[in-house]
Amino acid sequence: MLPVVALVGRPNVGKSTLFNALTRSRDALVADMPGVTRDRHYGVCRTGERPFVVVDTGGLSGVEEGLDALTAQQVRLAIDEAQVLVFVVDARDGLLPQDRAILDDLRRSGKPIIAAVNKTDGLDLQNAMAEFSVFGLSSTLPLSAAHNRGTPELVAAVLPMLPEDAHEELAPGEDDSIRVAIVGRPNAGKSTLINRLLGEDRLIVSSVAGTTRDPIRVPVERDGKRYTLIDTAGVRRKARVDEGVEKFSVIKTLQSMAAAQVVVVLIDARENLADQDLHLIGHAVEEGRALVIAVNKWDGMDAYQREQCQRALERRLQFVDWAKNVFISALHGSGLRELMRAIVRAHHAATVELGSSELTKTLERAYEAYQPPLVRGHAPKLRFAHPGGTNPPTIVIHGSRTKHIAPAYRRYLEGFFRKRFKLEGTPIRIDFRDGE
Ligand code: GDP
Ligand code: GDP
Repeated sequence: MLPVVALVGRPNVGKSTLFNALTRSRDALVADMPGVTRDRHYGVCRTGERPFVVVDTGGLSGVEEGLDALTAQQVRLAIDEAQVLVFVVDARDGLLPQDRAILDDLRRSGKPIIAAVNKTDGLDLQNAMAEFSVFGLSSTLPLSAAHNRGTPELVAAVLPMLPEDAHEELAPGEDDSIRVAIVGRPNAGKSTLINRLLGEDRLIVSSVAGTTRDPIRVPVERDGKRYTLIDTAGVRRKARVDEGVEKFSVIKTLQSMAAAQVVVVLIDARENLADQDLHLIGHAVEEGRALVIAVNKWDGMDAYQREQCQRALERRLQFVDWAKNVFISALHGSGLRELMRAIVRAHHAATVELGSSELTKTLERAYEAYQPPLVRGHAPKLRFAHPGGTNPPTIVIHGSRTKHIAPAYRRYLEGFFRKRFKLEGTPIRIDFRDGE
């Protein structure tokens, strides 16, 4: 499973700016904890050789009373979950007593710490850094998160500190099962669904593998097809009396999405579609995972409620109109055959091998039907295409001036390829290359 890195420091030192630079994410997953002033953000950093989960802890003040004490508790939780701590300080403020207090705190965890001295832009580096050498940390790096300077070096320093075996690359063909992550907000019905898919008698078995940290992998066979469910919360929560752990673990959710080929986002039909649902979907798409949206608790809803729900989905899920919506009742077991079929189809679309000549032919047809707008009097040219990978299907397009191709044209091409190759249920990547 993906290792975890926590960003810790006083408020305003630039943690969330750094978080954005590392994750390049529009869809940070936000965990809203009751009673906590600032939300924690979670994302995946993929800018280095190995991906890892990044947690922006919101901030420690170093003075822990009242609300601050509550926030501090949440930060502690993040520190517990992390394997490496990035201690962010502000070069413009210089070293403050609160920084020392926070560092003492971090040291007690016994985990490796890297100090990132942020906002060094426009400062004399040597002077700026000198002050922080008193930390005595083996790794103290200058940073300008706002200008994305120093972040590659920071990532390079983090990677060797992460546990060797913590990262497990997706290995298609490690067995012939489809790896499925079932994710969703608390109470969406994840554990009910997993138990239903397992069948009553196998309920106990599922609590075997895995430590407290790792999501469990649960083999399931249905209608002659094999699946590996990557469980984030559900089954084990029922099996263990471990309520100290957060009910909704964003880290486990991210880890299981990273390990899956198909992500099933479970939505509670009886609740309004929440931002968190959209964040989960957005993250699955950013990660390139095949996607099925399962609308749960469809039982006992009347015709009017069903229509309202379907309308809301149509309106708010336009950005993933290629993903199948299935309506299920995990409790009663209805709709599950359709769900499994949608998973198989999405997996098939995500892993299908596309041929270069068909891709190029399709590109030519798309280009003839509608050309990208001129750039300073010249049209970007698109010459030929070839496959660049699967899950998600990646199409490499060679041409010239491709940097000027607008997002709308990219979407047009995506739609064209999607239709031609019936790529339902999976995001598509288009990778433009100039020259050649
Ligand atoms: P957080 O509270 O630690 O998450 O801090 P933020 O990321 O919200 O940043 C606090 C302020 O510092 C914002 O106004 C940022 O624009 C600014 N900031 C962040 N990084 C840099 C940097 O590298 N250089 C400069 N000059 N300002 C920065
Ligand atoms: P989780 O937090 O996502 O694992 O959600 P649970 O599986 O624990 O379910 C939360 C609650 O929703 C429980 O009380 C379930 O019995 C109920 N629930 C789950 N699926 C369904 C369903 O299909 N229909 C109805 N009516 N209730 C359901």
